[in-house]
Amino acid sequence: MSLRIFKTIGLTLAMVCAASSQSSALQVEGLRFGLHEDKTRLVLELDEQTDFRIFTLDNPYRMVIDLPSFTWKASKSDQPKTTGILAMRHGELKPGISRIVFDINRPISLQNAFILPSKDKNPHRLVVDFSNISPSLFQTTKNKVLGTLNDKQQPPASQNRTTDIATPGAPPKPQAKPSQNKGYAKNTHKPVIIIDPGHGGVDPGALGANLKEKNIVLGLAKALKQDLESTGRYNVKMTREDDRFIKLYNRVKFARQHEGDLFVSIHADSIGDKKVSGTSIYTLSDKASDAQTAKLAAKENKADLIAGIDLSTEDKDVANILVDLAMRDTMNQSRFFAGKLVSNMPSNGINLLEKPHRYAGFAVLKAPDIPSILIEAGFISNPSEARRLNSPEFRKKFAGALRKSIDLYFEQVEKNQRQ
Ligand code: ZN
Repeated sequence: MSLRIFKTIGLTLAMVCAASSQSSALQVEGLRFGLHEDKTRLVLELDEQTDFRIFTLDNPYRMVIDLPSFTWKASKSDQPKTTGILAMRHGELKPGISRIVFDINRPISLQNAFILPSKDKNPHRLVVDFSNISPSLFQTTKNKVLGTLNDKQQPPASQNRTTDIATPGAPPKPQAKPSQNKGYAKNTHKPVIIIDPGHGGVDPGALGANLKEKNIVLGLAKALKQDLESTGRYNVKMTREDDRFIKLYNRVKFARQHEGDLFVSIHADSIGDKKVSGTSIYTLSDKASDAQTAKLAAKENKADLIAGIDLSTEDKDVANILVDLAMRDTMNQSRFFAGKLVSNMPSNGINLLEKPHRYAGFAVLKAPDIPSILIEAGFISNPSEARRLNSPEFRKKFAGALRKSIDLYFEQVEKNQRQ
């Protein structure tokens, strides 16, 4: 699992925040915990006073601190075991907002949170007091949000790029789109390929060999985009082009907004056995093809949990979409494309895992009208494969093999339409 303390993510966004209208990004300079008889005190040392937003989540228990985009300068914290904090991670949540997530082994109640301005030799500090409570009491206090930070504190519109990150609680309404009516054959429409690099921002994905899945897959995705665009045959969109967090549901929404004809989500897996290597391809199914694949889907679907977002409301929406009859045809097309990958990638130098095409309920594959596959490019738990996945040579090979399969897929689609 990737729940680990990880190092600085060098993300700095020039931004406007309430506390200082034109200064550079906020800096988190230190993090420490103090144990008191009746509470635990967390202190974040900051280079300026700032707005903040703090709340808790369960399943598993987490404490989440949102701040205007920050640079992390704190060294590894000296958190005492008794605070019950299992792991911490931080990164960009969306333009203008950074997030720190603490995994906690017990339910807590937020008592108080406030800013202590710099005094004498002390920097500005965000102080958070919390205490242990029972699981049942947690259910009555868990919706408490401390602080005044809101999502409007974002960079100006010009910096707010196309990747749309909806605010929690406001799921978008998807629109039906008859994908069958597009005339690939008449060249009136270039197929739209949506490339979805997994994870990003506060969610690093799998970790191994000092590499993070989110960075590896972004490199692969960019290579694929370049390769596809060089043919002049496709219109290519990426759900993210930099290191940012995007909710799973919004990846699907992005694909639908851009009327994607094919959705390719790129990931890299990690597993206990360091010797395992190879590429595998996944399509959507209610029933996983095997236990290992079910576990993988559960892990990939956890991305939103890792960022500290509670997705329960949106899950229902996705479930409703699934009811759509269009889904069946789309799933057939997805399987057809997966078959093209399986038969073409090895001859283009990509080694496949045994039983390379598997099925499971990946949340990101749930666009009802866009054939979608998820590709696990390889295993970053295997040190030599991790290095390979991160190399320019492999990126090129991987992109070329995928593009050839995409070419074959659309040639078949065109042929079917002519008949
Ligand atoms: Zn992944």
